[in-house]
Amino acid sequence: MMMKTESEPRAGHQYHLQSDQAPVGLIVAHHGISVEVLFESGKRRMVRVKRNSEHVVGDNVTVAGEVLKRLPRRTELRRRDARGGIHLVAANLDVLGIVVAPLSPGGFLDRAIVAARVAGLQPFVVVNKCDLDDTSALLGALQVTYGSSLPLFPLSATESIGLDPLRAFLSQGHRGAFVGTTGVGKSSLLNALCPDINLKVGALSEYKSQGRHTTTVSTLHALSGGGELVDTPGFRDFGLVDSTVEDLALYFPGFEEHGDLSCRFRNCRHRTEPGCAILSGVEQGLILSARYELYLQILSEIETDQAEARCRSWRN
Ligand code: GDP
Ligand code: ZN
Repeated sequence: MMMKTESEPRAGHQYHLQSDQAPVGLIVAHHGISVEVLFESGKRRMVRVKRNSEHVVGDNVTVAGEVLKRLPRRTELRRRDARGGIHLVAANLDVLGIVVAPLSPGGFLDRAIVAARVAGLQPFVVVNKCDLDDTSALLGALQVTYGSSLPLFPLSATESIGLDPLRAFLSQGHRGAFVGTTGVGKSSLLNALCPDINLKVGALSEYKSQGRHTTTVSTLHALSGGGELVDTPGFRDFGLVDSTVEDLALYFPGFEEHGDLSCRFRNCRHRTEPGCAILSGVEQGLILSARYELYLQILSEIETDQAEARCRSWRN
């Protein structure tokens, strides 16, 4: 069960009573075979669901007896599991915090930013472990590359340094989740922001502990100062759904101002196409060639993945 916090998640804040007069609630926890619904009145109730029912944390629902009816979603966040399966993680989020720390693998951040933008979520970057000396170089580099297009929050989760700007950002009514590679400090950060959550730091991932039959519980936490965070253990450890080449070409961070509309071809991949605004941006020094090289590298990786996926589907 989710513990009560000082401020409650906003149950169905955009809908009041539906025409059928069933009360509107918000799914604040998912336990596999049941969900916990928080109503506008403040009441909570467990409702049984089928294992494969597509209800997720963040869904606004009406409850009539034991029947849940989902209201339309504004956004959907999905993840990919170790076997390539796609799972819905949460509904109606509007921000995605991408957590990095020194020695985080390159490329993850850009892919996550693209995936967030594709899903209609505003990405922001948390630079964790700022208590360590080698974080300042990372922070400087991130500020140059992303500082003008994304909110950046340098902080230390374990030392509780720099958390207030992030709290203030979330308190503007945002509902978000954190992603990042293992070890960057996502559990530590959630513990620091939601003292009632009590996650194990450095815990085994869902994949490693699969044999032990762990139930994945995902929960929506209201922050005492405002804003909400979703915690889904499987999502913390795994990745976002891969973007397509079209998504990457459109949303790669740093290409925004140069706009895909100004490329001659609408589906320009910014590689060898004539009249490409990105290529001329690189030639004029408006786009750093290192950024462009990284774009090309990710583009090739996605193209290879997509070609392999097509081959698999032919064989089946
Ligand atoms: P996760 O895999 O992203 O959930 O990362 P964890 O929260 O489990 O943290 C991984 C390791 O990094 C643990 O040993 C944490 O104590 C450590 N860690 C997390 N945040 C910080 C921080 O702000 N500073 C330092 N120095 N270590 C941290
Ligand atoms: Zn182009």
